[in-house]
Amino acid sequence: MCLICNQFINTNRNAFCSKCKENFTPIIKSNRINKLLVSDGLDAAHSGWYFTQGLDDLIHSLKYNDRAKLGLELGRHLGQLISPETFGHVDLLTAVPLHRVKLRDRGYNQAEWIGKGAAEIWHIPFKKQIIKRNRFTVSQTTLNKEERKTNMDNAFSVKRNVENMSIVIFDDVLTTGSTMSACALSLKKAGAAQVSALTVSTPMDTH
Ligand SMILES: [Zn+2]
Repeated sequence: MCLICNQFINTNRNAFCSKCKENFTPIIKSNRINKLLVSDGLDAAHSGWYFTQGLDDLIHSLKYNDRAKLGLELGRHLGQLISPETFGHVDLLTAVPLHRVKLRDRGYNQAEWIGKGAAEIWHIPFKKQIIKRNRFTVSQTTLNKEERKTNMDNAFSVKRNVENMSIVIFDDVLTTGSTMSACALSLKKAGAAQVSALTVSTPMDTH
């Protein structure tokens, strides 16, 4: 069964059918870095498709219905749509880490599965837990702009040697860029040479 249109699919390998896949709207100029509210630390920010009907269902399903494999499938499509050359030379792929409480509840990090799917297509190593989410991140909503920045600056730390590496960070959706930027800044602080963001989707342009 296709997760979007409920039509029968003649394979267990796919979660959605090719007809629904054709309805996805690829982003032509996929570098979104100038559209982000926060992009410090990032050298590029790309997304595959607009967050349109069908794909939004899949991404919701990815988070809440125990569908790690769907992440892998979306990651493979993303790896086919956007080539690694888009980012120049790439040494390593990783994912935005999930908060430990969410990871415990969900059992998997959907961003890691997306990255693993792309890694299969690109033949570039994917490593999880390069970036670690620090324990004491206060909820952003109670903070002013300056406090938010400090809060995000301390939100992540890097757990592996990333010196002089060019790294692509994966996630499902790119919105303001604040999480990606905080991850990128932590990698740059640890010596990474280049850091780019790649997500499956991003909301429609407002202008
Ligand atoms: Zn379908």
